[in-house]
Amino acid sequence: MINRSRRGFFTRQRRSPQQRLPWLKNENTFTDHCLRCNACVDACQTKVIVKGDGGFPVVDFHHGEGECSFCYQCANVCPEPLFELQSQSPWMQVASINSSCIALNNVECRSCGDQCETQAISFSLQVAKVAQPEISQVDCSGCGACISSCPVAAIEMITP
Ligand code: SF4
Ligand code: SF4
Ligand code: SF4
Repeated sequence: MINRSRRGFFTRQRRSPQQRLPWLKNENTFTDHCLRCNACVDACQTKVIVKGDGGFPVVDFHHGEGECSFCYQCANVCPEPLFELQSQSPWMQVASINSSCIALNNVECRSCGDQCETQAISFSLQVAKVAQPEISQVDCSGCGACISSCPVAAIEMITP
């Protein structure tokens, strides 16, 4: 469990969690042809798609259930040919833990690991330290479930 009295010493940094939808072919095609019709926003099973800048839909892992379930409904309802086939990889992104992680600063925390269905987050025991988290890029699906669970917003999506 997190030591809440010590958690207060850490600054909560909320970076922009918005990012592209899964299976999008490319950004240029998207901005040229997206109708901003909101069909994908309404269809999203976990309600992580929101209106972003300029009314274009983006994924925000702080919304709804906080993770993409890879249901493909956003692509199914889109009236434009903006999405890859479902058999393709939804995206290249993986989660990454930065230096503001409280466990890396020696305060016990396993919140992210508790959320990860693919068990991509492991904790290694080290001398004179609390268990240290690490994300396997091979096992991470980029679902985003770990992002809103972090008390200090230390998890970001990266494209390796
Ligand atoms: S695949 Fe499903 S859960 Fe994921 S963003 Fe699209 S509609 Fe939402
Ligand atoms: S359903 Fe397609 S066209 Fe409509 S807002 Fe979503 S991505 Fe754009
Ligand atoms: S993005 Fe999803 S699969 Fe990747 S580490 Fe976070 S919870 Fe696990």
